[in-house]
Amino acid sequence: MTFQAINPATGEALDGAFSESTSQEVDQACQLAAAAFPVYRKLSGEAKAQFLERIADEIMALGPELLERANLETALPLPRLTGERGRTTGQLRLFAQYLREGSWVDARIDTALPDRQPLPRPDLRQMLIPLGPVGIFGASNFPLAFSVAGGDTTSALASGCPVVVKAHPAHPGTSELVGQAIRKAVEASGLPEGVFQMVQGTGIDVGMAIVLHPQIKAIGFTGSFRGGKAIYDAAVRRPEPIPVYSEMGSTNPVFFLPAILKQKGLDLAKAYVDSVTLGVGQFCTNPGLAIVKQSDGGDAFVSQARLAMSQTQPTPMLTKGIYQAYTAGIEKLNSFSRVLIASKSETAVDGFAAAQPTLLSTTADVLLENPELTEEVFGPSSLLVTADTKEEMLAVAQGLEGHLTATVYGTPEELLEYADLLEILEQKVGRLLINGFPTGVEVSHAMNHGGPYPATTDVRSTSVGTNAIRRFARPVCYQNFPDALLPDALKADNPLAIFRLVDGEWKK
Ligand code: NAP
Repeated sequence: MTFQAINPATGEALDGAFSESTSQEVDQACQLAAAAFPVYRKLSGEAKAQFLERIADEIMALGPELLERANLETALPLPRLTGERGRTTGQLRLFAQYLREGSWVDARIDTALPDRQPLPRPDLRQMLIPLGPVGIFGASNFPLAFSVAGGDTTSALASGCPVVVKAHPAHPGTSELVGQAIRKAVEASGLPEGVFQMVQGTGIDVGMAIVLHPQIKAIGFTGSFRGGKAIYDAAVRRPEPIPVYSEMGSTNPVFFLPAILKQKGLDLAKAYVDSVTLGVGQFCTNPGLAIVKQSDGGDAFVSQARLAMSQTQPTPMLTKGIYQAYTAGIEKLNSFSRVLIASKSETAVDGFAAAQPTLLSTTADVLLENPELTEEVFGPSSLLVTADTKEEMLAVAQGLEGHLTATVYGTPEELLEYADLLEILEQKVGRLLINGFPTGVEVSHAMNHGGPYPATTDVRSTSVGTNAIRRFARPVCYQNFPDALLPDALKADNPLAIFRLVDGEWKK
């Protein structure tokens, strides 16, 4: 069976037929990945760094064809896709540097104490080693940076794990091109072909076959709550349960305090609407919920946000399905008593999957009675909530489920006054921002892109930044090993010159 990509701007099928992978093909991909693991896991940090850099080079060598295909398959504009390609290759190169530095293996050494009384202490040395083949689900909303060669693939390969990627069916041609680039890098680096495997499919069977395959030892996923939770549930019910890192989205509440709204509420209203509609709102960090303290500045902010939203343009979403989920989500919110459509784009909607940016409004008491109102509607909309008092604002914060981010806008003085709000929010999110919108996730060492459930299925991890590598590694302790048999990271003379915790002290 084959399928074609659909252009979401026109509804037309695009050139190219892609084969639905069969269960035998998924099995073969997972077996090849397992066969590659004993070789790949032993690669030095330098060799893995060169491999990641080669992937980045091969992606660049695809030239404009990659960007043009991604544009046709996603309706995302070329400048955005050019930036996303830079993010993807930058991510590969950042992980290469991180591997060369090498201390990520978290080496810990407790030297032997043979004379300790009443019992001697053995020589104990611990470090992180890779888990095994990892199954990865590409996301629809970042056809490059969270897809075939995205952050999940990069961090898994960096840790020493082969990957089996389930390409997202919304951009199969883009996925195929990036897959070819990675395969070239595998070959040029002299690695076994199982280090990178990719399968395609338009139904859940292909992905589930990866999740349930006994050779797969972890899963990385970005997408819907329904998909991410189903995959998590299936993985924990396996005879051998495995970790699942599902990043499932979030409403990213933004709290606006009164003094800052008095100072620059009109500018903030415009910036808020820009953030809501950026990339047709198709970011998991989209600010889908704003809580405004009732005040003169607050009223002006709301009026300006309504005006700004009315001036936005309807734009095609990534797929017809995502567009339908968006319109259904707006209707559901609007069906609640006292939740109103405050403003929407005044330009007529024209196009196959064009979303109309929309601002909804309600009051804090309604939100507190109906916690479902805080659920994500993926797309260019946001719910503006007015709180009468500080206590009401705190109650809204207290009632939140887990999110990827939360933001507080305030002057330095009122931020101190609202320190209790920040204390509550710290318990609810993976990234807490002051005076900045959450869209825009830096790929760096200190970034955390994760958060408590239901934002993710594992609150202890990030899917962006170098710390993502730890998801695909586990600690092993070597007791009383002769030096010659220890991994280089743990050898007595520290040949890799990495930071290690030796008898409780960090040293090189
Ligand atoms: P999705 O429906 O979750 O699909 C993502 C990937 O997972 C696809 O390859 C899909 O395969 C697979 N999948 C979904 N459910 C599965 C299951 N039960 N078993 C096995 N595989 C499964 O996400 P989407 O298509 O990108 O977008 C749909 C919704 O996801 C959006 O409306 C939005 O709410 C959300 N979303 C969130 C983010 C985020 O950043 N967190 C990003 C994108 C989308 P098939 O399509 O072949 O079934």
